[in-house]
Order: sequence, then structure tokens, then C-alpha cells
Amino acid sequence: MTTRSETRTALDHLLTEIEHRNPAQPEFHQAAHEVLETLAPVIAARPEYAEPGLIERLVEPERQVIFRVPWQDDQGRVHVNRGFRVEFNSALGPYKGGLRFHPSVNLGVIKFLGFEQIFKNALTGLGIGGGKGGSDFDPHGRSDAEVMRFCQSFMTELYRHIGEHTDVPAGDIGVGGREIGYLFGQYRRITNRWEAGVLTGKGQGWGGSLIRPEATGYGNVLFAAAMLRERGEDLEGQTAVVSGSGNVAIYTIEKLAALGANAVTCSDSSGYVVDEKGIDLDLLKQIKEVERGRVDAYAERRGASARFVPGGRVWDVPADIALPSATQNELDENDAATLIRNGVKAVSEGANMPATPEAVHLLQKAGVAFGPGKAANAGGVAVSALEMAQNHARTSWSAARVEKELTHIMNDIHTTCHETAERYDAPGDYVTGANIAGFERVADAMLAQGVI
Ligand code: GLU
Repeated sequence: MTTRSETRTALDHLLTEIEHRNPAQPEFHQAAHEVLETLAPVIAARPEYAEPGLIERLVEPERQVIFRVPWQDDQGRVHVNRGFRVEFNSALGPYKGGLRFHPSVNLGVIKFLGFEQIFKNALTGLGIGGGKGGSDFDPHGRSDAEVMRFCQSFMTELYRHIGEHTDVPAGDIGVGGREIGYLFGQYRRITNRWEAGVLTGKGQGWGGSLIRPEATGYGNVLFAAAMLRERGEDLEGQTAVVSGSGNVAIYTIEKLAALGANAVTCSDSSGYVVDEKGIDLDLLKQIKEVERGRVDAYAERRGASARFVPGGRVWDVPADIALPSATQNELDENDAATLIRNGVKAVSEGANMPATPEAVHLLQKAGVAFGPGKAANAGGVAVSALEMAQNHARTSWSAARVEKELTHIMNDIHTTCHETAERYDAPGDYVTGANIAGFERVADAMLAQGVI
């Protein structure tokens, strides 16, 4: 029988090895630390998980593809970007996870996202493995025609690695409905197949699911509501700070309003907006989704209630709830201290790994309910899996049906994380609960399927 401390030492050795084997991938190291550091109790309690090689296999992607993506801009100049697809784990189903187009993308970033995705997807209970991909392409300031040519070039390599039973990409930062459309078109042209289930996040009328655009933001608010319910509170009348202004942030703000809370901020890389009256969603959607503009335009057009703070930290705005919905490591220890000082009750991650490990530690120590992304933002990928189910059955469900399923899934994830944390002596610790519950599902499938 291995003790928890022996297990912890073995995991520490493995983490050192991961750092050596995967140099210059700090985000992947961070994600691996965050998961492995919480697994000692379950590995010590269930000896089958201590089987040599199990965790080593879990931290090594099944396949990693890196490829050249050449494309021409509107002036005819050639650009060369790098494309990635990391197929991390398929023990529970086809690889599933988004594509990110952002200049910060590199192999380490995609591996961190793919690693998180394994556990997130397991938590949905919907039979999807973990993967992620993307490119260091920057869509900002690019015309539709340039984005189309880039997507076509990207898919000209990617198509051979994906398929409805193999690997099913979707959107992430920089990849929304427009990009999925161009990617799907090129896949269809190359393969000569109407294979709707090869990509999710498709448009209405050609295989997309209702509520998929809303799902990540809606799901995160539902998760935050479930955490508050556990403490005898609800969202009614609460003030919320939301970071970001993309798809996740927009539908987070929408669902908060529907449940009686008031989101007073949004942000992008230029700074943040604070709006005392609450964010006007129609205006924000117009600027971000139609005009593809920046958030300072929101403050300019909104009038007296809103102001734009260039380069500031959105976390300085006092609130009851914080929903980081922009990107990794956007909420650090100082931000956590500010939130705590201002009396924050719950922090729920709409983005992937937005809170640094130090911030998470501080928030949990202060008794703030903390929802980790792999649980709290799983609504997006969950509805992607529902889109796959609809595609497979060649049918489409009503918005009410999808939203009902989403609500059920988010409540179920909350209960699973909560109960798992209690079972492993960490009551109220959703990080431990999410990691262990996701791990158990993947590890059981890996053990059953042999050393592959
Ligand atoms: N990119 C989203 C995520 O981080 C969604 C992935 C998907 O729908 O496959 O979970």
C-alpha cells in the first residue's frame, strides 16, 4: 500500500521529468502541475492507479502534428504560419477540442489546452477524448478574404488528421462561426463528403446546434450559480466583473442578466470598460461581433455610465463575483488579493486557466468559492458533443431542449466535483474535485484498454 506522501514524491519526480522532456513549455508545465499535485489522495487510495506507466502515458500526447500554413494576403504577399493539432487522449472518445488562432500560440500552449481538455471532456460524461489545435495566425485586422485563404490553407493539411470518429475540432480564441464555416467548406471540398460531425460550432442551417455559441458563457454562469447555491446564496442582485469581450464573455454577461445579476465590465488587450448601469449587450455584440472592433468604442458610444480604462486591471472593480473569460494567466496573486479585499464570494473560470496557481491558492485560502475552468467552462464542449449527437442522427434539437441538457450537465458536473472533493477530504475544493473526478474516468478507460 502506497501512502499519500510516497505518492506525492513519485508525482514530484514525474513533474521534474515532464519539465525536462518538454522544455520551453511553461503553460504545459503549469497545467500538469495543477492536475498532478491534486492526484496523490486518489492514487494512494486506489492501487490500480499506481500502475507503472499510467500517469506517464496520460501526460504524453497520443499524437502531435505541426505543419506549415502558407497563405497570401490581399496584396499578394506570402505569409507562413505554423499549424498545430495535439491529439492528447482518446480513451473516452474521439479527440475533441477547439482551434485557437492567436499570435501567442505555440506547442506548449496547445499542449496545456489539450491536457486540460482531457479532464474537462471527461467531466461532461459525454464520451469525448481530449485534443486541441490552432495557429500563431493573428486574425486581427485581416479581411474576410484573408481569413478565408488562411483557413483553407490550414485545412488543406489538417483534413487528413481529423474525422467524425477520429478528431473533431471546434472554435476557441480567434476561431468563431466565420472561421468554422471556411474550415468546413474546405474539408468538404477536399474530401467530397458531407461529414457534419467533423467540426462543431457550425452555423445554423448547415449542421450547427442551437445554443452552441452561448454554451460556454451560459454554462459558466450556471456553474457559479450552483457554487453559490451550495452556500445558501444565489445570483439575484449580485454585481459581477467579467473579463474579455469574445464569445465566452458576451454570453456570460447575457446569462448573468437573465439570472438577475449585473455584469459591469468587459475587456480586451487594450484595457477594460466599466459600466455602472451594467453592460449593454446589444451595443457590445454590435461592436465585437458585427464590427469586430475594440472595447473603447463601447465606452465612447455608451454615454455617461461607462468609461474605458486603458491598460488597467478589470479585477480592480469591486464585485461579488468574478468570471475571468479572456485567456490564461490573466488573474494573478495581486488581482486575487484585490478581489478578496473587495469581498468577492465566487470566482468561476470561463477561460482556460485564467487564474495563476498563486491566485487560486489565495482565493481558496480566503474561503472564496473557486470554479476551475475544466469544470466551469465545460458547457461549450458539452454542447459540441450534443451537436455531434444531432449530426449523427441527422436531426436538430430546439433551443429549449439543448439548454435543458446544458443545465443538467452543468449541475451534474458541479455535483460530481463537489462530492469527489468531499470523498477525498477536500470539502469545497472544486479544483481537487474536478481533477480527481475527470482523472478517474479517463484512467479507468485507459486501464481497461491496455497499454497503448
Ligand atoms: N474551445 C472550447 C473549450 O475550451 C470548446 C471546445 C469544443 O467545443 O470542442 O472547451
